[in-house]
Amino acid sequence: MKFDPVCGTAISPEAAISTARYHGETYYFCSVKCRLAFDRDPGAYLKELPRPKDANPVSWSLQDSAGTTQAEAH
Ligand SMILES: [Zn+2]
Repeated sequence: MKFDPVCGTAISPEAAISTARYHGETYYFCSVKCRLAFDRDPGAYLKELPRPKDANPVSWSLQDSAGTTQAEAH
């Protein structure tokens, strides 16, 4: 079992909506939204520090409107 580094959801690799390679590690995401958030600032999520879920409402809304990686959902 892996954990979505963005939202902390437990997820199996087979069930991951999206994945990312970062510093030789593969990370699994429950949604494209989480993947996009990770892409924007991977280091922030890998520090495993507590972060308020609503810390970046502006960036979240920007990701919603971008939707650039929607097509990669398999
Ligand atoms: Zn997630």
